[in-house]
Amino acid sequence: MSPINLKSPITVAHGDGIGPEIMAASLRVLEAAGAQLEIETVEIGEAVYLQGHSSGITAETWDSLRRTRVFYKAPISTPQGGGFKSLNVTVRKTLGLYANVRPCVAYAPFVETRHPKMDLVIIRENEEDLYAGIEHRQTDEVFQCLKLVSRPGCERIVRYAFEYARANGRRKVTCLTKDNIMKLTDGLFHKVFDEIGQDYPELEKHHAIIDIGAARLADTPEDFDVIVTLNLYGDILSDIAAQVAGSVGLAGSANIGDQVSMFEAIHGSAPDLAGQDKANPSGVLLAGVMMLNHLGQSPVAERIHNAWLATLEDGIHTADVYKAGRSKALVGTKAFAEAVIARLGQEPKTLPVVRYGANAPMAIAAPPRRPPARKETIGVDLFVQWRGGPQDLAQQLQAIAGGPLELKMITNRGVKVWPGGMPETFCTDHWRCRFMNGGGPVALSEIVALSHRAAEAGVDFIKTEHLCTFDGEPGFSLGQGQ
Ligand code: NAD
Repeated sequence: MSPINLKSPITVAHGDGIGPEIMAASLRVLEAAGAQLEIETVEIGEAVYLQGHSSGITAETWDSLRRTRVFYKAPISTPQGGGFKSLNVTVRKTLGLYANVRPCVAYAPFVETRHPKMDLVIIRENEEDLYAGIEHRQTDEVFQCLKLVSRPGCERIVRYAFEYARANGRRKVTCLTKDNIMKLTDGLFHKVFDEIGQDYPELEKHHAIIDIGAARLADTPEDFDVIVTLNLYGDILSDIAAQVAGSVGLAGSANIGDQVSMFEAIHGSAPDLAGQDKANPSGVLLAGVMMLNHLGQSPVAERIHNAWLATLEDGIHTADVYKAGRSKALVGTKAFAEAVIARLGQEPKTLPVVRYGANAPMAIAAPPRRPPARKETIGVDLFVQWRGGPQDLAQQLQAIAGGPLELKMITNRGVKVWPGGMPETFCTDHWRCRFMNGGGPVALSEIVALSHRAAEAGVDFIKTEHLCTFDGEPGFSLGQGQ
């Protein structure tokens, strides 16, 4: 009988720049603390890009990730110039890593910060929004990037944020969106937050518009606890939060998916420090702590985290956080790791001791899909490239209206310019021309017939977008100025 293997398989990439140094230091700490890991080492990043793999990752690495399902990744360098795709975005989207979890904590008075009480976690939607990367140049003057937000995507990330808050003893979840402007996409995220929040009566819930939310995060981060937000806002906010907390060298992150999860520092490969034994390994080490929790090795995660806090408290600091007077010893990457190892079994005396529950849930099941709504098509927006003014365009389009479809309005960059409109409005060459049947149903064949008449009349239309209601609710925005 072969012995039972209690070790968790993981895929490790040592990355570029400071990556190999900080990953080696971190693995030493994990091993010394008793982490049970079976490591498959892969190569990603600069060398792989330059071998001709446009995403910086090879087929062998995908195979390893499918086998181990856990990716412990050091930062990589993305070569300058066109043709190279972001490895992180590729890995997140390909493997369905739907949640990006980034704790941002201040360690005052041991690490200098203006916000000593800051202790928050940003939970960022990781697959949708503008990161779908669907962009088009539509006219001479106008370029478009599609912002895609799905109900299952929102439900999953919002549920994850509440579950995370509950499992980690957090008290408040704040949702940040721009739903005063994007009423359908960001509005859906906010609505789902309100719906799912009802299942968590013990947690405080708050929604703020992203602009004032970001301002408050920079000014009074101690007022936040768990933040849940869409992909782009989360990307920007988490860098603000890490910077405000003290150093980019101190934060780790988890990218959670159904099949595979990825753990890494938030910073890049810092080529300015590479090969000098100066980089702070804490970001990748704390990502390792998150990984051990994910693997069910929480006692080891707790030992490492507390020893790391004790090291910071003892004033043993790498150059990025070292301050004469406050710090006791300036150390390099390797010596810092050795100092953490020497403190395994110790706990911090001033900073809060970390306690991880035995089985903190780090992943949740996909929410059930809803039955489809009753959908009715009631019109179409014809997007047209046109160099003239709105009156001439309206005349041309009224000539092709027919059947039940009447020209109802024309907007330019979302502002209504016909009927009515103001001479001050600047108009580009990109027009949205709305045809409707007075609110009544429209057959798809009538939309095809309209497009056909537009083509015959030489109207340079570049796309159509159907106007539908879902259970009687309009599924489209109105033009500003209506
Ligand atoms: P960076 O995060 O590498 O460096 C920014 C600054 O922070 C530098 O001054 C650096 O010295 C410092 N710094 C970063 N990590 C540190 C650490 N552990 N200890 C001490 N100081 C640290 O960002 P950048 O300079 O904009 O990017 C460099 C490269 O990293 C680029 O090729 C970029 O594409 C890549 N990058 C990779 C990832 C990733 O793999 N997840 C993320 C961001 C950037």
